[in-house]
Amino acid sequence: MGKPLKVVVVGSSRNEALRVAADLEQCGFDPSFSLVATRPQLGNAVREGCDVVMAWRDTSSLPAEQVLETVRGVGPGHPVLIYARSYREEEIVELMRAGAADCLRKGDLPRLRASLEREIERGPRRRTGGLPNEAEATDRYRALIEEIPALTYVAWADETGSRAYVSPQLLAMTGFTPAEWLSEPDMWVRRLHPRDRERVLGQFRQACASTGRFASEYRILDRDGRELWWRDEGRALPGPDGATRFVRGFVLDVTEQKLAEQSLRRLRFYDQLTGLPNRDLFLKRLGRSLADSTHTGQPLALLILALHGFKETANTLGHHNADLIVRELAGRLGEVLGAADRVARLKGDEFGMLLPDADAGLAAQVATSTLAALEKPFMVQGLPIEVTASVGLAIAPEHGSEAEIVLRRADAALQAALKLGGGASVTYSEQYEPHDPSGLALLGELRQALDANQLVLHYQPKVDLKTRTVIGTEALLRWHHPKRGLVPPGQFITLAEKGTALMTPLTRWVLARAVSEAKGFARNGHALPVAVNVSARNLHDDQLVDQVTEALQANDVPADRLQLEVTESAVMVDTYRAGQVLDKLARSGVRIAIDDFGKGYSSLGLLRHLPITELKIDGSFVRGMVGEGGEGDTAIVRSTSELAHNLGLSVLAEGVEDQWTLDVLSTFGCDQAQGYFIARPMSADNLTGWLDKAPWTMAES
Ligand code: C2E
Ligand code: MG
Ligand code: MG
Repeated sequence: MGKPLKVVVVGSSRNEALRVAADLEQCGFDPSFSLVATRPQLGNAVREGCDVVMAWRDTSSLPAEQVLETVRGVGPGHPVLIYARSYREEEIVELMRAGAADCLRKGDLPRLRASLEREIERGPRRRTGGLPNEAEATDRYRALIEEIPALTYVAWADETGSRAYVSPQLLAMTGFTPAEWLSEPDMWVRRLHPRDRERVLGQFRQACASTGRFASEYRILDRDGRELWWRDEGRALPGPDGATRFVRGFVLDVTEQKLAEQSLRRLRFYDQLTGLPNRDLFLKRLGRSLADSTHTGQPLALLILALHGFKETANTLGHHNADLIVRELAGRLGEVLGAADRVARLKGDEFGMLLPDADAGLAAQVATSTLAALEKPFMVQGLPIEVTASVGLAIAPEHGSEAEIVLRRADAALQAALKLGGGASVTYSEQYEPHDPSGLALLGELRQALDANQLVLHYQPKVDLKTRTVIGTEALLRWHHPKRGLVPPGQFITLAEKGTALMTPLTRWVLARAVSEAKGFARNGHALPVAVNVSARNLHDDQLVDQVTEALQANDVPADRLQLEVTESAVMVDTYRAGQVLDKLARSGVRIAIDDFGKGYSSLGLLRHLPITELKIDGSFVRGMVGEGGEGDTAIVRSTSELAHNLGLSVLAEGVEDQWTLDVLSTFGCDQAQGYFIARPMSADNLTGWLDKAPWTMAES
């Protein structure tokens, strides 16, 4: 029989507690446990007495910070062990600072045993309120520092940030000994990558002069000249006169993560066949060029070229040969422009070309020479193949000054050119606009729809792939239009987002309804968190935090029953402001997920500073995993999932439409999934019925 151990497990299912108990038994203990899911339950259980509190960071219903805060509130003497699959290094420091006795990786039984023995041995002293003695504290601190592959340093607050101290990890990280590094005052600056040097020094000097905080990512060259990526965070320390004398900080080597992000970026923004930028990157570059052109007052032209009857050609020649033509075509377009980076493959046989500083006359000339460049037959397997193409043109600012609009107009011109037949080039004019018949009318009606009770929420379940349980639902807005029938949100949310005053009442309504229906689900035995989508406009609206609090209080629903989904691009509009609003929401206990991840341009690194717990990979990539050419999307989903895990986020794949995709996602270690294969969005009533007999067993509550 093992040593008796009284454990409080923080978690949402009995299975979790049983797994913890099994680990403890293997470590030679005889555990008795109580399972708690909320802060009051935790507080009571700890007060009643326990040897240790164990919290599983990734799935627990309470964030680790809240667990630590609650246990601290009860008083000293109750060690908390945090469990997770992996940690960011800084996170270990944060959790230990917040009072965790240790941060364990799942499955690391030797360390679990050692931690428990240490805590039990220390127990009686802790309980009497005795502080650990100095030697013990130093020991723990050293163990902690050695656990972290990080460099600590102290730098003078001078022009070149010359180092006064660097820790011994420097040798393993760069091949330089600390003595070598300190022997020359400008060593750090000299090893900084020339392309990053000015930027980083600027940030460093600014930290010394005003902000007090230095945070930067840059490349540094190691002893052999290899590029390493460092993430450096420091704090300015003032001297007696109040002016900054030193900067003290730590550096993490994030090379692996950066390389993984770079290859993910290549997959996301470049066409695998031709190596050209894809539509997303092209749009981004177009946006930048449009901004430049507004600044300089010079016009800008956009050409889109497409082949005639390329599908038939591909069917006749086979896809491999068709690919050869596309690749050769890409090369010829690059030659015409003399700059391959201004050409992009938008889709299939459609290419975009960007001409900065070109007016309509010059653009027409380029269109002519482009079409001429395709007159020479393409050689495929020794056979000459003739292709014909047409070109659509749009000019900025005449035809618009936003990337999406200019691209759409060039496309409208292209459709007109394709109708004319081979070799045509057409410049946009309003007559080619496929007009949006009722956008504005619809918006007007939406205002009334709110009052006339025409809006409803449908719910789509989210499931956990490991435990195969339903772990939540997402509320999706529907409009029962008296004449048009059920209108999906895609048709009105974007309109509402443009309008000024509509998003706020709309979101208030959605939040109130979702929270009150979630309460209804709980009454029927399904206490599941509900996720609500919020738009960019909401994130920059002061009322959001109050709306959330109001909805929760009015229905007496705990904050962790609500999750908010924000898209990557909504956050990027103003990261600072979005961060402030999200911080407030997260502090109130609401969980935040990033929706549609992969569609925007942000790097995961940028998201690190936001209080998010979950990443939803956009459905287009997940659906793209199936069928021909699925390898690219599969790679995107896999690496996004790995990177997100490295940042301690849980990962949900949207848009799962078949068993195969679900199985592949499980092998990636993807945590959760959502999609038609599991269940389509359904009314609140139908959801209750579905949950009652779901093949996915419900999370125990
Ligand atoms: P989202 O939040 O990314 O929601 C997922 C969308 O994908 C939903 O479309 C859902 O019906 C659809 N979907 C789910 N599984 C599958 C699948 O397996 N295959 C396919 N092809 N599609 C699937 P829906 O309901 O039309 O919503 C579209 C978008 O509208 C949402 O994207 C969200 O961004 C927005 N939205 C919906 N409700 C609200 C709301 O209350 N407020 C705001 N601000 N936006 C909302
Ligand atoms: Mg969503
Ligand atoms: Mg989504």
